Amino acid sequence: MAGDRELLLEIDVGRAHELLESDEPPVLIDVREQSEWDTGRIAGALHIPMGELGENVEPYRGRALVLYCARGNRSLRAAEALSQQGFEGVVSVAGGIQAWEQAGFPVELPAGLDEEQRKRYSRHLLIPEIGLAGQRRLLDASVLLVGAGGLGSPAALYLAAAGVGRIGIVDDDVVDESNLQRQVLHSTAALGEPKVDSATRRLGELNPDVEVVPYRERLTPENVDRVLDEGWEVIVDGADNFPTRYLLNDASVWHDLPIVHGSIFRFEGQVTVFAPGSGPCYRCLFPEPPPPELAPSCAEGGVLGVLPGVIGSIQGSETLKLVLGVGRPLVGRLLLYDALEGSFDEVEVRRDPACPVCGESPTITEYVDYVEFCGRPR
Ligand SMILES: [Zn+2]
Repeated sequence: MAGDRELLLEIDVGRAHELLESDEPPVLIDVREQSEWDTGRIAGALHIPMGELGENVEPYRGRALVLYCARGNRSLRAAEALSQQGFEGVVSVAGGIQAWEQAGFPVELPAGLDEEQRKRYSRHLLIPEIGLAGQRRLLDASVLLVGAGGLGSPAALYLAAAGVGRIGIVDDDVVDESNLQRQVLHSTAALGEPKVDSATRRLGELNPDVEVVPYRERLTPENVDRVLDEGWEVIVDGADNFPTRYLLNDASVWHDLPIVHGSIFRFEGQVTVFAPGSGPCYRCLFPEPPPPELAPSCAEGGVLGVLPGVIGSIQGSETLKLVLGVGRPLVGRLLLYDALEGSFDEVEVRRDPACPVCGESPTITEYVDYVEFCGRPR
């Protein structure tokens, strides 16, 4: 009477869909092998391969069970075996996930990596702190880079290479001969081209998994909210001027977004993380910009070509740590690098309760436009 049993033990995909959508859905079990499961599955399914059903299915005894496999053969055998073991209300989906898909029902793509990604990110997958889940996290991450210059170059290249899935780049400049000594994102062929275009092309060549969102504009009090509202998790500050740095700081406090800050001058660089709520902001350290005549960044200061490579790479590393939630970020710690000395130093930096922006009674509550004040030549 095998035929009768099959009638009892099999349901078609339409009925399966109906049951799964009902108020009391059955337990859906995918009995295929790992490699098949990795190619896609029906949403909400548990994965218990045929050979592992035994004890793993025991907890669901007494519940309505719907089993499926690729074409419905293995799951029918499994349903037969389970019903012989006294499971009641076990059915198999006739035609399996193939029939399900052909009927137009949705198949959930795995939150895993495809074959190419497994190779590309294999050195991340080997690290327990990252692994498959961490790499998925990176691929789902959104990081905003302000500035595609010296600091932004290594940060952008390494974040893209690491598989950060969405990278925004804000820069209104074009590639100039004097940039190429350190801005390794750009090439001689890109001279005269907007930096965001040159960056988008280069990052696309490096890693097709990355979506680059270019903003060919300079951050201003008028556009900063619009740009920061577009779903970013971490901001990398690679700005070369005080107006942008202060604007970005105030915006990040009000938008509750961490900033990975870097700055460079001649042979010295510094890097830290400003995390609103858990550490100081830039204004806790420097409440107001220096007067324009004393501000080296308002004019162009000289810089050793490789220095932004060191500082921007550390910014990239801090960004990955924040996205992955691993390690000890540079919050409340200012890391100083002296290339001439070949030394790193660390200075503790504290949140200032009297900070004009993140303090207890803020005195700055709207954006300050320092651009004209600074008089930076465009
Ligand atoms: Zn502050």
